[in-house]
Amino acid sequence: MNTTSAAKRIFQQASFLISAQQLNQCPSDNGWEVAFAGRSNAGKSSALNALTNQKKLARTSKTPGRTQLINFFALDEERRLVDLPGYGYASVPLKVKEEWQRELAAYLETRQSLKGMILLMDVRHPLQPFDTMMLNWASEGQMPVHILLTKSDKLSHGVAKTALLQVQKAVKSYNNTVSLQLFSALKMSGLEELQTRLVDWLEIDLA
Ligand code: GDP
Repeated sequence: MNTTSAAKRIFQQASFLISAQQLNQCPSDNGWEVAFAGRSNAGKSSALNALTNQKKLARTSKTPGRTQLINFFALDEERRLVDLPGYGYASVPLKVKEEWQRELAAYLETRQSLKGMILLMDVRHPLQPFDTMMLNWASEGQMPVHILLTKSDKLSHGVAKTALLQVQKAVKSYNNTVSLQLFSALKMSGLEELQTRLVDWLEIDLA
């Protein structure tokens, strides 16, 4: 089996583990995990679906009541993908929102098994306030970030490339490792690059 199909198989094994409303509900903090973050509508569910080849998986995180939760998906006993909530729930009272932001910050700051963050942004609207907030958090904790500029199929190749270079330039100032790529769940493009990043962070042995 070649590396690509071995990696593909591992992500297709993903299965829902638990939803956590608070830090103390997270699975025990050992092994490796990578968190996926993005504003709502950035294309996070579509990317998780494409990666895991499971439509049901990301739907789990969209179930009403679970959208404000940290959703954990197990790849094996030691490795997890983590779906962080997007910010789009205007109907949520401010108090709940603030409380939730504190839990999210605590998760990002204290989680030992968290090895990196995949930050998804619509390639046509990158670096919104939510995105810079996440980049700042990650930078403070010296956590590496890999940005997916999503829905790249919506732009011509040249325009998408220009957007990539602009974001690349803008994130140079962050005090941590930030890499980025174009991604389209619709065209399934950029999937191998994403898999390679995850295999590295999760220390998956493909041998
Ligand atoms: P989430 O809220 O971040 O989970 O975003 P979704 O994955 O639900 O996607 C939001 C919208 O963008 C949906 O209408 C998707 O069909 C669309 N979308 C997601 N990924 C792509 C993509 O790669 N290309 C295009 N053209 N549309 C996409």
